[in-house]
Amino acid sequence: MTPTMIDDALFAVTDSINKAKNRIGRDEPVTLVAVSKQQPDERIDAALDAGQRVFGENRVQEAMSRWAHRRASYPDLTLHLIGPLQTNKAAEAVALFDVIEVLDREKLAAALAKEMAKQDRHLPCLVQVNTGEEEQKSGIRPQDTKTFVHHCQSHHGLNITGLMCIPPADEEPAMHFALLAKLAAECGLPVLSMGMSGDYLEAITFGATSVRVGSAIFGARLPRQ
Ligand SMILES: *Cc1c(COP(=O)(O)O)cnc(C)c1O
Repeated sequence: MTPTMIDDALFAVTDSINKAKNRIGRDEPVTLVAVSKQQPDERIDAALDAGQRVFGENRVQEAMSRWAHRRASYPDLTLHLIGPLQTNKAAEAVALFDVIEVLDREKLAAALAKEMAKQDRHLPCLVQVNTGEEEQKSGIRPQDTKTFVHHCQSHHGLNITGLMCIPPADEEPAMHFALLAKLAAECGLPVLSMGMSGDYLEAITFGATSVRVGSAIFGARLPRQ
């Protein structure tokens, strides 16, 4: 992937998002979170040169090595944590990220609340919902979402702005997107993070306000070291 290819891909993804919005007559912006995990430096820099400022990462350590030094040059950067967070990494995550998309359990809510108070960094958080109720996947069960959101707000004082989901890989995502949209409406939350490279346009038709797109922008990821 050359810088020109990344520039073109960003343009194409943005353009298709706008066309999808026009088709359904939506005015509200859709945030494009460019998922930069496991991507080489030159592709990240190409995206920055093309004007992209919102990025997603799924591992704290990896994100620190990629973004800590770039922050100084790009003060308008917005980093989203989109992968599972261990409580012992909460301090580092609160220091580095701007949005936590993976709030998925009580213990993490407590750890994040404590760290945010300590660092006086009150980040917006999304509650991750396990819409497919998959054993191996993290996230709150759909039927527990409303109670959990309320608990995070009233007990921990967290700024919960929305919900996030990763549908099962082997299922049509539509019913999962619809379920997440319904739950967010029930909770009175405006942000819906759903849709990846293969299905972000479909997610938008179901009301996604934020899409997480990696390979469609950057190409295939490198294997982890
Ligand atoms: C890796 C990842 C993505 C991006 O996946 P692509 O298919 O490359 O767009 C989106 N969301 C989450 C949670 C991820 O871990």
